[in-house]
Amino acid sequence: MHEWSLAEAVVETVLKIAKEENAEKIIEVDIVVGVLQSIDMEAFRFALTEISRDTPMKDAKINIEFEEPTFKCRVCGNEWSFTDIKNKLGEDEIEAIHFIPDLAHTFISCPKCGSPDFEILRGRGVYLRSIKVA
Ligand SMILES: [Zn+2]
Repeated sequence: MHEWSLAEAVVETVLKIAKEENAEKIIEVDIVVGVLQSIDMEAFRFALTEISRDTPMKDAKINIEFEEPTFKCRVCGNEWSFTDIKNKLGEDEIEAIHFIPDLAHTFISCPKCGSPDFEILRGRGVYLRSIKVA
């Protein structure tokens, strides 16, 4: 299960940092999830709880924040956000991009020069923003 391995990576990182800080307990964990990351949030939260059950992270408060995607055109260097172009896309397209981020290249092109050759700067993946330990 894909949510499980994402959660495992998060917990491993948290525990590693906590160990380096000689922390006994993890109080709070801030996780950022890209809007373009296809993830079942319920399964992800469940996996986090299960994996951290017997660790110093077990009572930590988990905050999950969503990150809006940002794109950068490889041709003209223009940068834009998902919000900028959202209105031009249909519901189905937004949905498709959300679950299969690679489809972004099918539906999105640079608003400035029209090139479909762009990179996704932000809004993919899952990462740790900060943790609070005791
Ligand atoms: Zn461009």
